[in-house]
Amino acid sequence: MTRGFTVWRCMGCGAVLFPERLLCPRCHGAAFAPERVEEGVVEETSTIRHMIGQADWKPRVIANVRTKDGLHITVGLRDDSGPGTVIDLYEEAGAPFGVAKGSPPPTESPPAEPPP
Ligand SMILES: [Zn+2]
Repeated sequence: MTRGFTVWRCMGCGAVLFPERLLCPRCHGAAFAPERVEEGVVEETSTIRHMIGQADWKPRVIANVRTKDGLHITVGLRDDSGPGTVIDLYEEAGAPFGVAKGSPPPTESPPAEPPP
């Protein structure tokens, strides 16, 4: 789990992209500089209750998050942050995750269910 995650700023027009593209959708430039984004604001959340092909899927929450550059990304939420909450962003296996700003960093995986 790494603090922040990488986005790509177009060297031609300054657009911020995630994930990385071959060409900028705005100016068609092909040169990008990586930048770290460490926080965003939750705009909307939804819970994924089922996943095709996953028998023991645990419900998990994803959030649509807006960064300070106006980039919208989908992140996995590791707490119950709701719309309007500023969250700290982390990266795990190339995917962005978030917890409410100032919270301790999330663990590698959601906590295990206690044994019955
Ligand atoms: Zn561009």
